[in-house]
Order: sequence, then C-alpha cells, then structure tokens
Amino acid sequence: MQTLFFKISFILLLILSSCTQSQSQMNTSNKSGKVQKSNEEWKAELPENVYKITREGATEPAFHNAFWNYTGEGNYVCYACGQILFSSANKFKSGSGWPSFYMAFNDSAVLEQKDTSFGMIRTEILCSRCNAHLGHLFHDGPPPSGLRYCINSASLKFKPQK
Ligand SMILES: [Zn+2]
Repeated sequence: MQTLFFKISFILLLILSSCTQSQSQMNTSNKSGKVQKSNEEWKAELPENVYKITREGATEPAFHNAFWNYTGEGNYVCYACGQILFSSANKFKSGSGWPSFYMAFNDSAVLEQKDTSFGMIRTEILCSRCNAHLGHLFHDGPPPSGLRYCINSASLKFKPQK
C-alpha cells in the first residue's frame, strides 16, 4: 500500500514539474531568445507608467524622470526583460530632459522601426529581446556616431558597475 502511495506521488510530482517547466518556457522566451508575453501579462507585471511607455509607446515628461541627469557608472537594462541596452560610458548631456546615448550597448541590443505617429517621421527604438518601446533615434548627437538615442527613463533599470 505504501509503495503504491509513493508511486502515485512520484508520478504526480513528475506531472507537476513538467507543467511548470513548459509554462515558464512559454512565458519567458521562445527559441530565438525573444521574450513574448500578451498585453495582459505585461500589464499585470509592470508598473502602470512603465506599461504605458514600453507597450503603448507613451512618452514620459522631460526633466521629470529618473535618469535624465543621472551620472552613475554602469549599464542601463530593459525594465521589462533585463537585457543590457545602454552603457553609462555612452551617455551624454543632451539638454533634452531625457537620458541620451550616442550609441547602444552593442549592435543587437536595440531595434529601429519607422514611426509616423503625431504627424512626424521618426525612428522608434525598441528592445530587441521583448520589443519594449524605449524612445526615439535622432541624428543630432555628438561624435563619434552623430546619433542621439533619446530614451524614456521608465523603460530602463540601472545596474551599477561592480
Ligand atoms: Zn526588453
């Protein structure tokens, strides 16, 4: 009788662990390493202002955000998925009131997409891993790139250098 009980609990344990495993794989990333979640899932786990910016393309107010004049040394990662997006080494004072970088952390960190909202033609910047809206790219940045990645603080988390 006892052996039967152990057998059943072992089988139950197997079923349970395989369920949670497949679910976490489904929720976090697919084979390409991309993080894909439904809007409902993002809404449940992100603060409201972060959800509005990263999933609905909203813009936070200039000068009233966490990192516009922050000078700590380290990396800025995606608020939603944690991928490293920008380094403090590439941050510069743009005077715009938003954190500004002249280049991304590497070639694969961010995606560029044409944005024609508000009657303007702009280049939208997205996290390449979870497609979070980060900000826009302008061509009035400093050397060496001449680029300005104008980013919403709320789409970022700061990881200080160790
Ligand atoms: Zn991301």
